[in-house]
Amino acid sequence: MEPGLRAVAHPSTGDRATPHLDLDLARVRDAYRAMRTALPGVELCYAVKANPHPAVLALLAAEGASFDLASVGELDLCLLAGAAPGALSWGNPVKKAADVRAARSAGVSRFTTDAPADVDLLAREAPGARIGVRLAVGDDGAATPFAGKFGAGEDEAAALLHRARTGGLTAAGIGFHVGSQQRDPAAWARAIDAAARVATRLGEHAPTELNLGGGFPTTHADGPAPDLEACGAAIRTALARHAPRWRPRLVAEPGRALVADAGVLRAEVVLVAERGGRRWVYLDVGRYQGLAETEAEMIVYRLRTPGNPGATGPVVLAGPTCDGDDVLYRHADVRLPLDLAPGDVVEFLGAGAYTSSYASVGFNGLPPLPTYVHDTPEEGGS
Ligand SMILES: *Cc1c(COP(=O)(O)O)cnc(C)c1O
Repeated sequence: MEPGLRAVAHPSTGDRATPHLDLDLARVRDAYRAMRTALPGVELCYAVKANPHPAVLALLAAEGASFDLASVGELDLCLLAGAAPGALSWGNPVKKAADVRAARSAGVSRFTTDAPADVDLLAREAPGARIGVRLAVGDDGAATPFAGKFGAGEDEAAALLHRARTGGLTAAGIGFHVGSQQRDPAAWARAIDAAARVATRLGEHAPTELNLGGGFPTTHADGPAPDLEACGAAIRTALARHAPRWRPRLVAEPGRALVADAGVLRAEVVLVAERGGRRWVYLDVGRYQGLAETEAEMIVYRLRTPGNPGATGPVVLAGPTCDGDDVLYRHADVRLPLDLAPGDVVEFLGAGAYTSSYASVGFNGLPPLPTYVHDTPEEGGS
């Protein structure tokens, strides 16, 4: 299913059936270039899972980006999009032997690891490969923290790099991920300090590469996110502190920050009803058609109702399926026009990341979220 490339005359008067994601490639290009400026000299590996649309991958490959991938499916998408195998990095520490074999035979030679058994797997299946160890770092301040799922402690990271080196791998790097939608630039500084401690401990075998991970935030309904410059400044300051002793080559793995602002998810009101003294608005999109990040109301999107400019009031916002969890917001202060009625359009802004890639294949018979891409010539969209 290859979505059309036809330009949308005005992004807020879509003539296509809802729900759908409207993705402006010009905004992706702008975001990529802005990140290059904010993080000069850093190799940018786009985290494919944020939005794996072929047009996004092709655009970023043409811009010179590298890619952070997590599965054979993402590997194939990157190669199809024109990425060179040398620009691919397997960032997922959880992988099967068959994954590593497929990556190796496609020419991928960079892997992230965080556990002894995975180091041993890589030593067996990918001798000589460049290994980066992922440190467990604090992810307070992140909207979607990893909460202990990934990463080795500092002692264990040093031991893993040693194990990799003595096992015939190239123990090249150390890295971290400070948690997605990380709103505190100091999180990168603290993580860099932790990585530098491991490097110091390893002395002459200190890793020569530092992976700053992803987590760069975008603006949602809870107010403006720290801009990229603030993150870049915190990173540069922390690196400068350690530079006399350690000057690693730098990599980052942005996902959300490159694609979120390029996407508008357009939905339609299906039903409005009073329940328990509250006004419930049911849309034709919900948790299972791409709005997975509304789980626990972690991400509260900015909403726009182009056809209803009048007064607003509080609502509970729900999805269309028969699942009780398919309620987007019942605690967040979400307000929608009082005259909102079935057929009216509700737009989710900043929805280009972690939406289409999360949509289920057909829960309740509803299809995955379609994406329509366009490339606004200048200034990018509305
Ligand atoms: C998801 C992921 C990223 C991207 O994170 P964002 O918060 O979207 O920037 C980067 N690296 C790894 C290993 C990931 O799993």
